[in-house]
Parts: sequence; structure tokens; C-alpha cells
Amino acid sequence: MADLDPEEFRRLGRQVVDWIADYRAGLGERPVRPAVEPGSVRAELDKPLPELPGELSGLLAELDRVVVPASTHWQHPRFFGFFPANASLHSLLGDMLSGGLGAQGMLWSTSPAATEVEQALLDALADELGLDPAFTFAGGGGGVIQDSASSAALVALLAALHRARPDWRERGVDGRERVYVTAETHSSLAKAVRVAGLGERALRVVDTDPTTLAMDPGALAADLAADVAAGLVPVLVCATVGTTGTGAVDPVRAVAAAVATTAPTAWLHVDAAWAGVAGLCPEHRHLLDGVELADSFCTDAHKWLLTAFDASLLWVREAHALPAALSITPEYLRDAASESARVVDYRDWQVPLGRRFRALKLWTVLHGMGLSGVREHLRGHVALAGELAGWVRDDPGFELAAEPSLALVCLRVATDRGPDADDAATRSVLERVNATGRALVTHTTVRGRYVLRVAIGSVGTRDGDVAELWELLRAEAGAVRG
Ligand SMILES: *Cc1c(COP(=O)(O)O)cnc(C)c1O
Repeated sequence: MADLDPEEFRRLGRQVVDWIADYRAGLGERPVRPAVEPGSVRAELDKPLPELPGELSGLLAELDRVVVPASTHWQHPRFFGFFPANASLHSLLGDMLSGGLGAQGMLWSTSPAATEVEQALLDALADELGLDPAFTFAGGGGGVIQDSASSAALVALLAALHRARPDWRERGVDGRERVYVTAETHSSLAKAVRVAGLGERALRVVDTDPTTLAMDPGALAADLAADVAAGLVPVLVCATVGTTGTGAVDPVRAVAAAVATTAPTAWLHVDAAWAGVAGLCPEHRHLLDGVELADSFCTDAHKWLLTAFDASLLWVREAHALPAALSITPEYLRDAASESARVVDYRDWQVPLGRRFRALKLWTVLHGMGLSGVREHLRGHVALAGELAGWVRDDPGFELAAEPSLALVCLRVATDRGPDADDAATRSVLERVNATGRALVTHTTVRGRYVLRVAIGSVGTRDGDVAELWELLRAEAGAVRG
């Protein structure tokens, strides 16, 4: 049986677009997170797969009946949890185009456009972020779209291993490798260390400044020097711009200086998964100070840059670094273009072989909104966070748990009955707010204390949505205090 006839696809595709448009238009009225019992969705689907073809309308009805009511609505205007996962409608258009082309961009020759659009966009974006020209292909480095910041960290670590131990590809690791993070570093670094086979002992947790929670570069220098003296091999240092917990910013320039003086072969990776895109606004570019000294820099387009998951942007300052670590060429992938060394084969920049044309969904965002629209999106959320932080400061029933960072506000309920009581009150306010379904917030701990995080950044979040959250927080805190 043949695939859909293109005319039939045209008809059904409109139904799908209409379904998405209706879903998005009605999002604000839905509870952000449903009350769902584990297994309830599977129970609804516990029937044999269809033997005969079915109508699309029947499937869409199942989405309405089974899927939507059991979904957490990440694009909801009052979704303030984790970090945003912007899936703008602009980007969905590009995702559809990418699927339409259906190309595998593993080698340049398997789809020249897929490779070169990605190269061109990442070079241009590097420029707009104010990154050093060394991170562009023109400057000897280059960018690549990974599926996630976790993968970006993993391939950076593999490139770092190759640089630290040129026989690593043949002999693997020997247990002396060390990787430097802080307690605030994203868990994907610890995972990368495990996946790379280094074992937990390779992970060195560097002290942070107790107030800012940023990496202490003096402590890093001391740890590096001690390890070098002990015959260990510092492989990679990860500095974070905008930690997941509180949005803390490691002092990249001072971190780079510590690396350069104590362990100059170690690789410096800057993980700016959430915050890095703010560099598109000149007033936030200072956050990227010192990144020009790093070996790699990563920021997610799929968090705050309007691009539907997955699109994590990774730049390296040496274009050969990733292929040197990752390239493996079986006979069936041998190719004249690759051997000419005039092209980039992105399969050598990532773990999997196959790859989709992710650049298209980023392109439809940048084309459809323009940089001015993107900046307005980012600035709007930063302004809303500033407003919320002001309300928190002015209310004796609350306190800020950390200085607001861009569009992230971390707060606690203040009870006057000591920090343990504040912990308990903050936790129950979070649970009660989420139970209303009118907003979703998540938590972290800061210096061992329970903290409620408000990450502003959904595509549809407006003034009234943050005001509504604040009203909910105040009302539930009032109820908890009794
Ligand atoms: C979200 C986040 C990550 C992981 O991002 P993925 O793209 O989902 O893998 C890594 N680092 C930081 C700082 C993050 O906030």
C-alpha cells in the first residue's frame, strides 16, 4: 500500500494544523498539569493495533480524549517550571519543512543544504551573540546543532579526552582523568563522565562562592594544581553561565585564567544551556564575558530561543577537535567530497550517525520573528521577572532566595518561625499552587533550603500571567500561615 497521496496529505495536513491552532488558542483555559494516575493512559490504549487503515479524524479524537487531558502543558502561559521549552509556532513550521524534506544530513554529500544551512546559521548566530570569531567556520572553529546540551557536554568531553591523551581512541581511559564541576553544575556533566567510562572518581566538585553560588576560581586553581602534582590528568573544566538551580554565573574569564596557568591542556566547556541566548541582547552580553577563552560553548535554542525541542547549539574553537575524537569511516561512508576536506560531515561532530535537518526550525524562528522579535521575547520575560522580584522584596511574607537571574526568580515563604518552618511553608505553597492547575512552579534547594523557582519564559506568558501567579502565591501562603 502506498503512502498518502500528496493531495490527500494536503487535506489531512490542514486538519492537523487546525488541531494544533485550536490547542494553542485554548491553552490558557486548561489546568497546566493534569491530575493523572500512573498507568491510566496506557489502560486507555490497551487494545490491539488496528488491522485496517483508519481515518485521521479518529486519531485526533483520541488525542482530545486521551492525550491532551493527560498532558502537562509546557506551552501554557502560566508554565513557570524547570526552564521554558519554547516550541513556538514559527519553529513548528520549520519542523514540518524538515520532515517534509526528510533528509539525513550525516555527511555533507547526503544533503549538502542540510549541512551548509546549519553552518551558515551558526556562524551568523555566533556573531549576533558576540562570540569570538574563532568559533565560526570562517575563523577556524564552527558550530553544530546537537539534540541536547547533555549531548553537547558529552562530545566536548570526548574531544577533551582526545586532546588530553592522544592515544585515548586506541587505549581508552586509565583512571587518572579528572573533570571539574561545581555542586551547581547540571547533572548532564556527571552523566557524560559516566557515559565516557571515566567513573565517578573522575568528577571533582570545586567550591562555590557561598553568596553567589558561582565557581570559586581560586579553589579551581588549587584543585587543578593538586591533581597535576598528584600525577592526575585534568581533562575538562565546565563553567556554567546560568545554573539550573538559581541562574548563577561562573566567572568564565577567571576560570579560564586558572585553567591556562595550572592545567593548560584541559578543555574549558561553557554550559549556558538556558541563559546563553540572552547574549542576543547587548545589555546581557556581559554574561558571556570570557567565553572567547573557552574551547566550547553551548546554549539551547529549545529552551528560551523559541525553537521546538531538540536544538542545542554548540560551538567549538577548533573545527577539527570533534572529528579528531569521533570520526570513524566504514567503507560505505567513504566519499570524495569528505576526502577533499572542503566540507563538514556533521556525523563526526556528534554521537549518532544519522541527523535531521534541525536548522530549518531555527531558521523559521529567526526569519519569522527577526532578531528584534527574539530580543523582545527575551526582554519581556526579564522585565516580568524584575517585576515579580520587586513584589517579593516588598512583601514581608516572602523573601528572595537568590538574586534574580535574567527571567528566573527563586523565592521562599517567610514565616518568622525559623528556616525549617520556612522550608515546610514554601513546600506546601508550591504544592497548593500546582494543585490549583492555574500555574506550575518547581523547586530546588539553595544551601540546603527548599526554594521555589519561577522560570518565566513561555512563549505566551504576559504581564497578567505573572500577576496571577503572584496572587496565587500570596493566597496560598496566607492559607498555609493560617
Ligand atoms: C537544561 C540544562 C541542561 C540540559 O539541557 P538539555 O538540552 O535538556 O540536555 C544543561 N545545562 C544547564 C545549565 C541546563 O539548564
